[in-house]
Amino acid sequence: MLYFDHAATTPLCPPALAALNYWNEQFYNVSASYNAANANREILATTRDQVAAELNADSLEIYFTSGGTESDNWAFFTACHGLQHKGRHILVSAIEHPAVLETARFYASQGFKVDYIPVNGDGIVDLAALKDLLRDDTILVSVMAANNEVGTLQPLAAIGDLLASHQALFHTDAVQAFISEKLDVRALGIDLLSLSAHKFNGPKGIGALYINEAKRNLYNLPAMMKGGSQERERRAGTTPVPLIAGLGAALDFHLGRREEFKSKLLNLRAYLWSSLQSAFPTCTLNGSADKRLANNINVCLPDLLGEEALILLDLNGVQASHGSACASGSLDPSPVLLAMGKSEKEALSSLRFTLGYENTESEIDELIKILRSIG
Ligand code: PLP
Repeated sequence: MLYFDHAATTPLCPPALAALNYWNEQFYNVSASYNAANANREILATTRDQVAAELNADSLEIYFTSGGTESDNWAFFTACHGLQHKGRHILVSAIEHPAVLETARFYASQGFKVDYIPVNGDGIVDLAALKDLLRDDTILVSVMAANNEVGTLQPLAAIGDLLASHQALFHTDAVQAFISEKLDVRALGIDLLSLSAHKFNGPKGIGALYINEAKRNLYNLPAMMKGGSQERERRAGTTPVPLIAGLGAALDFHLGRREEFKSKLLNLRAYLWSSLQSAFPTCTLNGSADKRLANNINVCLPDLLGEEALILLDLNGVQASHGSACASGSLDPSPVLLAMGKSEKEALSSLRFTLGYENTESEIDELIKILRSIG
């Protein structure tokens, strides 16, 4: 099996797998008052501290969620319910994940006005357009930290600067970038940040949302989930401590190896790109060559039909993608590539390969051999 779809999800790292033992040994409800649940309380507090430290946030600003989708929904809930008295205008980048785009579409159906910030040919948000689109009644600007299809890193610091003296909350979907990129919410001026454990070798079904506490007085919010008092009365439901332990273990695993993994991925990515160029001289890279996640290659192979190629790759034991896993199965061209100015034909001939620390050059050699045989 040749797995090149790490943007869709990643395998559990050994410490995250070990942490799932909490399902057995430490099954207690973290809200129970007896001593047996103390270890669970400790895990919960420690993991919250770990996530906060990585983001340069306060622990009380971290809320555990079921993953990136819920965090994105909650970010919009925060701005749209908390700030609607100040305005009903939202800006999102044109290349957001469906977790953001569909949520924006929902609020548009509820009377909010949504505008889409265009991106340039490299897939990077157009700051001048963002400036033009920003209005006095804008309450939320949502721009992802890194795109899930083409891996482009967005100019978060410049957006944070632009919004520093504006009422709009700055949300970033950091599901793809968290850990591989160092994100400091204070330095970047971020108010809301979404992350998800299964993108960094943690378990599926667990993530977090950072909410800037300094703006809390603006929110005046009902709980995101109504019920018990978990997550400081803002998100009810029995706390999934084993998943949270898995998130913490995966975070630890990566933090100790961030530079090692990054340099390995950059080398593998360079090897994959040069191998693709030798095998398919007409191929072109989609997205910025340098402002991009270390593990992402999104390539247009003009003589291949992406969807067909994916089926043939699959039959040969290769797992790759043509974009968002949430949109796979669709034969439509990628909206992200179209927003970058690619033609329908180019978009339909594009494939995404996303690498993990466990991939090797010989796996890439094998991939190229298979691609040649089907190309
Ligand atoms: N945002 C981005 C950028 C993603 O890539 C994904 C998953 O593919 C999500 C949100 C959704 O995250 P989750 O699968 O944890 O709900």
